[in-house]
Amino acid sequence: MEQTYVMVKPDGVQRGLVGEIISRIEKRGLKLVALRMNVISEATAKEHYSEHAAKPFFPGLVGFITSGPSVSMVVAGKDAIRVMRAINGATNPVDAAPGTIRGDFALDVGRNVIHASDSPEAAAREIAIHFKDSEIGNYSRIDEVCLYE
Ligand code: GDP
Ligand code: MG
Repeated sequence: MEQTYVMVKPDGVQRGLVGEIISRIEKRGLKLVALRMNVISEATAKEHYSEHAAKPFFPGLVGFITSGPSVSMVVAGKDAIRVMRAINGATNPVDAAPGTIRGDFALDVGRNVIHASDSPEAAAREIAIHFKDSEIGNYSRIDEVCLYE
């Protein structure tokens, strides 16, 4: 079972989209194994987005992501990393397909509602930034017998 890190960004929280987003993830069959709402610190935001440190949008991105509560999750399941990226849709919501979270709920690249790790390396790194091992649950969902062949 692959794990990935997912964040409902502060715009998603402010717009009341947390329940809708978690519902889509759960209904797809992916399993929540860790969940928290908090205001991410500037240091954590800079570490999380370190790959973008040299980009012109970096200060605005860090300022926005720390501007209010966000919801952090670890999501597990078959090919969870690729499946979550597909659920989210393209980074720029203008290019995101209808039916994706960004394609249904966002318009601006700087307010695109949700984050998910883009590779196994990024998932391991981001999960470790946001959660301790002891905060990540280990359980079977009763519908796994139906979800998986
Ligand atoms: P993601 O993995 O799909 O979230 O996209 P990236 O890793 O490329 O970028 C991280 C986040 O930075 C995106 O989700 C956007 O919120 C933001 N971002 C990326 N490109 C731009 C840009 O050109 N302008 C602005 N304002 N924000 C951007
Ligand atoms: Mg990214």
